[in-house]
Amino acid sequence: MTTEYNKPLPRPISVELTRPFWEGAKRHELMMPRCKTCDRFFFYPREECPSCFSRDIGWAKVSGKGRLHTYTIVHQPANAAFRKEAPHVYAVVQLDEGPRMISNVVECDLDDLEVDMPLEPVFDDVTAEWTLVKFKPA
Ligand SMILES: [Zn+2]
Repeated sequence: MTTEYNKPLPRPISVELTRPFWEGAKRHELMMPRCKTCDRFFFYPREECPSCFSRDIGWAKVSGKGRLHTYTIVHQPANAAFRKEAPHVYAVVQLDEGPRMISNVVECDLDDLEVDMPLEPVFDDVTAEWTLVKFKPA
């Protein structure tokens, strides 16, 4: 999938901390930080585990399969870069591996959206450098 944007996209501000996520997305893999002390995945990336406060953090590939936890339909994006995509689905996705992540649901009729519907990742190569992780019905 490749979405064309007509304005410059916002860029991640914490590139070092999130680099494994973005590199994985570019390979079309969903990578999550995982605590080496308590073995839990978490998201968003942080320097310490939100469960046990360990700073011994690794990264691992996850399936990306999950369910639609909640969503809203955005008709007026706050950032002009996303105006062409409106209306789009701003979603909280509950991943099978545990964490919840903010993303978009795509390739789905808005009338077919349903809380708890199964989802799988889709990788949107928005530029040569950046790939966004979005979700579609599984
Ligand atoms: Zn931990």
